[in-house]
Amino acid sequence: MGPSPPQLPDPNRGSGTQTEGQGRSSEARAAADASGPRKVTFAKDAAGFLTELRRRVDDYFRRTGKSTNDCWQMYLKSAVILAAFVTSYVLLVFVAQTWWQAVPLAVLLGAAMALIGFNIQHDGGHHSYSRHEWVNKLAARTLDLIGASSYLWHWKHVVYHHTYVNVQGQDTDIDVTPLLRFTPHARRLKVQRWQHLYLWPLYGVMAARWHLYGDLRDVAAGTVGPHHIPRPRGWDLVIFIAGKVVSVGLLLGLPMFFHPWWVVLLFYLLVTGVLGVILSVVFQLAHCVEEAAFTMPQEDTLRMEAAWAVHQAEATVDFARDSRVLAWLLGGLNFQIEHHLFPKICHVHYPAICTIVEQTCRDFGVKYAEHPSFWAGIASHYRWLKHMGRLEEGDGPHPGPDPVPGAS
Ligand SMILES: [Zn+2]
Repeated sequence: MGPSPPQLPDPNRGSGTQTEGQGRSSEARAAADASGPRKVTFAKDAAGFLTELRRRVDDYFRRTGKSTNDCWQMYLKSAVILAAFVTSYVLLVFVAQTWWQAVPLAVLLGAAMALIGFNIQHDGGHHSYSRHEWVNKLAARTLDLIGASSYLWHWKHVVYHHTYVNVQGQDTDIDVTPLLRFTPHARRLKVQRWQHLYLWPLYGVMAARWHLYGDLRDVAAGTVGPHHIPRPRGWDLVIFIAGKVVSVGLLLGLPMFFHPWWVVLLFYLLVTGVLGVILSVVFQLAHCVEEAAFTMPQEDTLRMEAAWAVHQAEATVDFARDSRVLAWLLGGLNFQIEHHLFPKICHVHYPAICTIVEQTCRDFGVKYAEHPSFWAGIASHYRWLKHMGRLEEGDGPHPGPDPVPGAS
């Protein structure tokens, strides 16, 4: 499928619980201008699922008096995570004397960088960290600090992934490399037969790839995946360049004044490897598992059969909802159904609103799926990749012994 602009969701108004499409229409229009006429659309929400869901979640915030943004827990956890990042970096570069001191510090540094992404940058990029735009911008730009462009991430994640989750040819998260086939609608290569095995080291090189090559390629080409985007200009361009200079300087340049170049390179690969595996696994567990739907629009009309909100719920799977530790560490990304339906609510509220979302899904006959633990999610991701690597094109999307609920 050729380049297509985002068709953002039904802009019904809610109080603090708006979907990502709201407030992003200027970007949507910019994308439409860059890519041509709009193509993929969603069915009308005739049953009123999203309206009722918003009413119930709005009611929760009214009853409890809680604010959807600017939560003290966010400021505290941001300080803890940034302190862990600075401490592990300083100890690794300036204090560690032996490999057995350096290796755990490098793993800690990679994990701290992933936590910055999950907890600080992700909420900032979705405007859910604060009511104050400068706080959201500052939080969003911590991504540039750890090596990836917040400008490109906005297009890839906020616009294309969140609007068209799991739609082949639209969602850039399932179109990472031809070596990996995440959906039954993607092209099949023979080598993918082993993708469930080589997937893990491949995840490990992804962070270094976008740090040193992918982002620069995307900006030079003015594209993300199949989509044309406006190239960064003005402050966006300044921040893009500054982010690359600072992150390359921190991870490669500065350490070379104190250590041999090959030691720095090895530890760069270790730190970015840990970062890449953690980021990829956590994001993929929400969508690339057996229970997630991979639906496509009608070929002639390019219209999705489901309404936008129904599609978001059915293409997404929660995991380990009972784990307070994982919810804290992963920035609520184990509650991705709630995140996809309410990306503008700060993630600290997801454990509380998940029962409202689940009940509303049940009331409207919308699929709500979860894995009881992180490991159950990993096992499902492994099985799904193995299945996709062996599924021939034209076999139909879901043969095999285990039916996949919700997928069609
Ligand atoms: Zn998101």
